[in-house]
Amino acid sequence: MYDYDLLVVGSANADLVIGVERRPGAGETVLGSDLAVHPGGKGANQAVAAARLGARTALLARVGDDDYGRLLLDSQRAAGVDPVGVLVGGAPTGVALITVDPSGDNSIVVSPGANGRLTPEDVRAAGSLFHASRVVSAQLEIPLESVVEVVRNLAPDSRFVLNPSPPRPLPREVLAACDPLIVNEHEAKVILGESCVSERPEDWAGLLLAKGPRSVVVTLGAEGALVASAEGVCRVPSVKVEAVDTTGAGDAFTAALAWRLGTGASLAEAAAYAARVGAAAVTRAGAQESYPTAAEVEAL
Ligand code: ADP
Repeated sequence: MYDYDLLVVGSANADLVIGVERRPGAGETVLGSDLAVHPGGKGANQAVAAARLGARTALLARVGDDDYGRLLLDSQRAAGVDPVGVLVGGAPTGVALITVDPSGDNSIVVSPGANGRLTPEDVRAAGSLFHASRVVSAQLEIPLESVVEVVRNLAPDSRFVLNPSPPRPLPREVLAACDPLIVNEHEAKVILGESCVSERPEDWAGLLLAKGPRSVVVTLGAEGALVASAEGVCRVPSVKVEAVDTTGAGDAFTAALAWRLGTGASLAEAAAYAARVGAAAVTRAGAQESYPTAAEVEAL
């Protein structure tokens, strides 16, 4: 038996957010609101989303030996994530400096910090976590060579889910392990590069499948999602909700889908559940703060 339904390997950031009337130009200083500090980063978000749904979840990540690192560890524990794989030190905790204007447009500077120091050796040293986990999920806010090492350390019958964000071309070894590769429109287009001439998500899914993943999911915001495998392509409808803030919806979707796959759901069933989780997440402000419990998903 597995100790964990889901092992998330990825980033943990402190999101430092300031509201401004106008985002500053070069050489300019503007005054803003009080600073708000939120736990974030795609790995930390996914782990919290899964744990809140009831998944037994572990996180493999690196944070700094500083207050932001402790904030991230606290938020993981509070959500019920086992932080046994969270390494501490080596660089300051990753930070995203975010300014948001009244229209909701933002400017973001990311300092990867400790996320950039999660090395292939760290991944290898966490081998026992891989053998204890039914499903493993990753993103690309950690070094690509560490994601390659994740794929090499998967237990023989575990399943690997990748959201390639921020997107970049991927080695075939990583693509071939994905079941599924989960992309939004932007990520699909970057990974396909010049081979992407169509505007139809069905075509992106087909082209992505040809690159090696066993299955592909394309998320389409309020339009829901699309799942594709050798058995064919099908649309997953979205749930109609009043969207308040879409931050982190993709991370909640990915975590929910990864967890459901591990419980034996088909890809289409898991994506339909994940679409409900994503929809619930956009009805509340923030990322981790917006993630629903299983009961809230049922009630939607
Ligand atoms: P990302 O945040 O990675 O761009 P999406 O915006 O596609 O990802 O959102 C992920 C999933 O969350 C979607 O596939 C959908 O199921 C759900 N979702 C996102 N926005 C909405 C919305 N406005 N209404 C309903 N569901 C949504």
